[in-house]
Amino acid sequence: MKIGFIGLGNMGAPMATNLAKTHDVTGYDTVAKPDGITMTDSAAAAAKYADVVITMLPNGDILRSVVAEIHAVMKPGAVHLDCSTVDVESARAVAAQADSHGLQAIDAPVSGGIGGAQAGTLTFMAGGSEEAFAAVKPLFDIMGQKAVHCGPAGNGQAAKICNNMILGVTMIATCEAFVLADKLGLGRQAMFDVVSTSSGSSWSMNAYCPAPGIGPNSPADNDYKPGFAAELMLKDLNLSQMAAEAVDSDTPMGQAARDLYAQFVEKEDGKGRDFSAMLPRFQTRGRT
Ligand code: NAD
Repeated sequence: MKIGFIGLGNMGAPMATNLAKTHDVTGYDTVAKPDGITMTDSAAAAAKYADVVITMLPNGDILRSVVAEIHAVMKPGAVHLDCSTVDVESARAVAAQADSHGLQAIDAPVSGGIGGAQAGTLTFMAGGSEEAFAAVKPLFDIMGQKAVHCGPAGNGQAAKICNNMILGVTMIATCEAFVLADKLGLGRQAMFDVVSTSSGSSWSMNAYCPAPGIGPNSPADNDYKPGFAAELMLKDLNLSQMAAEAVDSDTPMGQAARDLYAQFVEKEDGKGRDFSAMLPRFQTRGRT
């Protein structure tokens, strides 16, 4: 299969590298030039002869600007597979535009981070037709360990922002509970041993424990270097609040998590730190 890959940053480069082991991959990025991938000098050149064009870009505005260049030159019937995390509205607009050019589109944001991209163990949550999903399934199988077809265009992004809203909320809850436990004189190991096997357990506690030296290895054990940066969590929480507003859904916990990550990233020292660095943030504060 001929693949055009646009956006070869932290996530895109390892994903493209895994695909290039068995497929003909041509890449384009405004900045990155990863080793081992044949690069072109425009998005259109990477897209023109491809059976599948994959985009892995920072946000919806950039995605739309790239789409304006590539859909017009893609082969009839080719698939545009967008793996970026963007707003639901952009995903649906991109799918409608693909349709108007006789192309197929799938929005398939990922979970699993840079480690998952390198290891080929990402989870994809996909929106689009059955036919388009089937066409790109072999690529999901190379880049990931699981792909869930969530329904029509935009539903992949809907799944992603709902998942990450839960993640943001549970990470904050886990961090504030750790600091409350500290102040109550409860050891962190005991806290982990109880909660990770009790009703307060979550991925944030069990797989990504924000306390250093406790539980599985996580960014907390690496001085909170990301991992999943606090600003990316803020981006996703902003997307979930935009979506909630658009459909009039009451999401008070998502809003509170958004506001706290905004404060952490924009006014405190959260920028450039892992999103689990909420724990040392709570440690430095009292109730006021
Ligand atoms: P990144 O910033 O490392 O990579 C984005 C790449 O896009 C950069 O190399 C940039 O030069 C390139 N780019 C920007 N504008 C471009 C354009 N007009 N044409 C071509 N290339 C362009 O970001 P990332 O961490 O790889 O994340 C990519 C997407 O994946 C984001 O939507 C992010 O939210 C999502 N995501 C990231 C993670 C993570 O852990 N990093 C996890 C899940 C999802």
